[in-house]
Amino acid sequence: MSGKPTYEELEKRVRELEEKEAEHRETEKQLKISRKLLRDVMDIVPVYICAKNLKGEFILANKKLADFYKTTADEMIKVSHSEVCEDEEELKSMLADDLEVINSGKPKLIPEETMESPDGSIALLETYKIPFTAYEDPAVLIVATDITSRKRDEEERKYLEAQFQQAQKMESIGRLAGGVAHDLNNLLSPILGYSEMLLFDFDENDKRRDSLQQIIHAGIRARDVVRQLLAFSRKQALEFKTVDLNKVLSRFEKLLRRTIREDILVKIKPGPQVPLIRGDIGQLEQVIMNLAVNAQDAMENGGTLVIETFAAELNGNITVYNEKIAPGKYLILSVKDTGSGMSAETRKHLFEPFFSTKGEQGTGLGLATVYGIIRQHGGGISVYSEPGNGTTFNIYLPVSQNNDASPDTDVEIPSNLHGTETILIVEDNAQVRSITCGILESYGYKILVAENGMDAIAILKKHKKQVQLILTDVVMPVMDGKKLSSMALALDPDIKILFMSGYTDDVIAHRGVLDEGVNFIQKPFTVQGLAARVRKVLDNIN
Ligand code: ADP
Ligand code: MG
Repeated sequence: MSGKPTYEELEKRVRELEEKEAEHRETEKQLKISRKLLRDVMDIVPVYICAKNLKGEFILANKKLADFYKTTADEMIKVSHSEVCEDEEELKSMLADDLEVINSGKPKLIPEETMESPDGSIALLETYKIPFTAYEDPAVLIVATDITSRKRDEEERKYLEAQFQQAQKMESIGRLAGGVAHDLNNLLSPILGYSEMLLFDFDENDKRRDSLQQIIHAGIRARDVVRQLLAFSRKQALEFKTVDLNKVLSRFEKLLRRTIREDILVKIKPGPQVPLIRGDIGQLEQVIMNLAVNAQDAMENGGTLVIETFAAELNGNITVYNEKIAPGKYLILSVKDTGSGMSAETRKHLFEPFFSTKGEQGTGLGLATVYGIIRQHGGGISVYSEPGNGTTFNIYLPVSQNNDASPDTDVEIPSNLHGTETILIVEDNAQVRSITCGILESYGYKILVAENGMDAIAILKKHKKQVQLILTDVVMPVMDGKKLSSMALALDPDIKILFMSGYTDDVIAHRGVLDEGVNFIQKPFTVQGLAARVRKVLDNIN
């Protein structure tokens, strides 16, 4: 049955068409929304996202990736990977991974890969590649996280950890070395003292003098090793003075030139107007000598040794061996050679005691000593060295606050070491006590002895005003040297005090630096050394 559609029928068809159109519009709207949703998600997340087909053409890219390649997401879909990536190697490896994922149908994680942008900046990526089936053609979806800064932080942390461990290691070796040195010191006092005194008793022609000389010689060598260990462990007593390092250098130059082989050119370059520092002159000379001798060892076939000083202001960003150096004004002592240089491995260990690459010839104590002395001066050391290219040690010494003070000058050793004064010796170690008495008696002094501070005070009270000098150990049971000193001074303000110790203890020193005006002698001492120090204290020579 046909014929003209009725009005109702027409109306129905128009309604149907209208409904379809509305449906269509709605679908389009939904499509737009989901496209925008996808776009937004892709552009908001902080990762690189793209999809590529078998030919390596981008079929999807987010803004972050487009930004990295200095283009737009729309432009990217028009190009293939080879057009944005300039690095052949990078491109080859990335495309190979893409193919692998597409062909195998299995996802792949690339833990670390680099991506270079047109301006040359490089991002380190952790990348997931996933088979992608949203398109008709086979494709791969790529999601990559930028791990550049995470990696940098990790490396920084590892570096700091290593530095910290190294510092801790030096600290504990230092404690061990200090402990050994302390005990050996007490043993060496009688060995050195008695053998030196025996030498006086023997006849000039006595054959046994030779044997005795050998004992003394060995004892002195042992004492030197102990001193170096003490220096490394920063337990050595330093006597700080205001020092003009240029003057120290010029006075030391002669000795240096005599010590260093002739095929080495020694250049001393004192900087103009270098600031004064606070330091122990003898120890600073030791530092210069140790560095110079090492430089000589490194220049087997001759070369040049340059020692210079200059002022520098540090902003705190310089890392010297193990630690950052505090910002401030410094005097730099630089010791440079044209020798063999050293490997990274040697650089890592060179300040450790007994580390040496010289076999039998080396003690491995030279730089350990330098390290301890400089740390005790509040300074730092940096090393620049490469195999075959020579070595430079830079020593940073903090500038003295009191820069106007005139630097102290050295005092001559008194020529006559004898005396008739009364000395009270206070020492708890019996052997050290008797050798000390023996030495001073042999120089004519009248001697009183006490085993501890309490006994000493009793003796002082008994012999009122008769004792001119107290020679006392620092750490003793019952009453320590410091307490004894203040009680003795209360009894007799004119009495002189000379501390002796194998160790610097906080009782008389702050971090090993003696308080101004404190008289101190390091154990073990030689006969002459003790006699000279006692004479100087009695005569008020510092
Ligand atoms: P030693 O000189 O007895 O070996 P040191 O503590 O003085 O001990 O030095 C430790 C090591 O550091 C040396 O054995 C050497 O390998 C290295 N070293 C020190 N100074 C220099 C230098 N100027 N040039 C090359 N290597 C050096
Ligand atoms: Mg050395």
